[in-house]
Amino acid sequence: MSAPYDLVVIGAGPGGYIGAIRAAQLGWKVAIVEKEPQLGGTCLRVGCIPSKALLESSELFAEAGHSFAQHGIRIEGRQLDLETMLARKVKTVDGLAEGVGQLMKKNGIDRFTGRGELLAPGRVRVHGYDGSAEEVVAERVILATGSRVAELKGVELDGDRIGTSTEALAYPEVPDHLVVIGAGAIGLELGSVWARLGSQVTVLEYLDRILLGFDDALAKDAQRLFAKQGLTFRLGSRVVGASRQGDRCLVECDGQEPIRCDRVLLAVGRRPNTEGLGLESVGLTTDERGRIPIDESFQTSVPGIFAIGDVVRGPMLAHKAEEEGIACVERLITGYGHVDYDTIPNIVYTMPEIASVGRTEAELKEAGRKYRVGQFPFAANGRARALGHTVGKVRILADAETDRVLGVHILGPRAGDLIAEATAAIAFGASSEDIARTCHAHPTLAEVIKEAALAVDGRALHS
Ligand code: NAD
Repeated sequence: MSAPYDLVVIGAGPGGYIGAIRAAQLGWKVAIVEKEPQLGGTCLRVGCIPSKALLESSELFAEAGHSFAQHGIRIEGRQLDLETMLARKVKTVDGLAEGVGQLMKKNGIDRFTGRGELLAPGRVRVHGYDGSAEEVVAERVILATGSRVAELKGVELDGDRIGTSTEALAYPEVPDHLVVIGAGAIGLELGSVWARLGSQVTVLEYLDRILLGFDDALAKDAQRLFAKQGLTFRLGSRVVGASRQGDRCLVECDGQEPIRCDRVLLAVGRRPNTEGLGLESVGLTTDERGRIPIDESFQTSVPGIFAIGDVVRGPMLAHKAEEEGIACVERLITGYGHVDYDTIPNIVYTMPEIASVGRTEAELKEAGRKYRVGQFPFAANGRARALGHTVGKVRILADAETDRVLGVHILGPRAGDLIAEATAAIAFGASSEDIARTCHAHPTLAEVIKEAALAVDGRALHS
């Protein structure tokens, strides 16, 4: 049994390891338990980071085929070396995971490798890979075990041809025909990767739209752009089964012709990871969606046991988990810690990217709130034209009376980076006039945000 810690964190994803670092910074003796040999969680190992590596590589491959020539760069005999592309992705992940390990050392955080299981409040058993078991004792426990892919009845996952994002990050060859189930972030990002590398990609989506939760108008624009990039959408298609037949797969949709393909990517959401965590030993239960209920201090119904990230309510996003990790330990140690759930950006890293923060128009309408809209296209921005990435626009929604910015939605180049300014603006309670009167460097993509802010008041300069 280890010497008692102030805190043990179960799960070393972005929520867990960031919370551990913050607690160590504030003077606590901290342990972290992670079942995988690599730290960083789903996000780093088989999620955000490897997908971004492949998105970047596949985009360069696509551009080398169509837009390099416009820059006067001729490439004869463009060839895909998938093995090198995948190896670069692995190297990116390995380097970052190694970096998280260094951060644990630097902050004096003790690392335990194995599956963590609650035995009692403050007592965690770590089940090692070799069958060993060790006990970690701490004043408090934070559960940060993240989430896993939600399964779909009838879809027979085989860890190979019918798989999840994990398999889709490492297909050994470019599929001839990939069927993606679900037009959310995962389906569209990974569907884009393989479409750029040469696959025929069919996206099956139950709803009559893609990207639920994003601005309706921008989601429609995005769908049109993705269709031009080669993605075929079948909206209103409820998948009821997928099975393997040799090297081929058969996907069945309610009331439609089945589709034959050679790989299937299931991306219909994620579920909290709570199995085997020992919740029952301490009297914890989960809600109807498998989440652990918490109060505003992230405390579960058991004193001394806290939960953050994908295992609790709210969007399943790495940066939301990080904020909660920090707020949870700051609240415990300093008495103050807070997450502003109104300013959590949401980004889909397609080409172009889609980014959103604050309220959507649909939400404002439903709440009966009066608002004004300012929008501005990237096509009228000098930097976007120089880059050759001119599709998309910025939309700013501001309160009709106070002019306070309520939501910002971007479809366009580097939207994921641009949304940071909008997030800060909303966090500081800015008006669209505040953004409009802020000097934006020229020539930059960020000027589109300034112009959209001017457009709220009908005075955009370049349109
Ligand atoms: P999602 O919940 O975003 O989208 C799933 C889609 O599948 C929905 O549109 C849903 O209508 C559809 N669907 C459900 N059942 C279906 C059926 N039977 N047939 C056809 N369609 C069906 O899920 P996701 O894309 O798997 O992402 C999971 C989580 O991971 C989300 O919380 C997401 O925010 C997060 N994530 C975020 C990013 C990012 O921020 N870039 C990237 C990847 C994942």
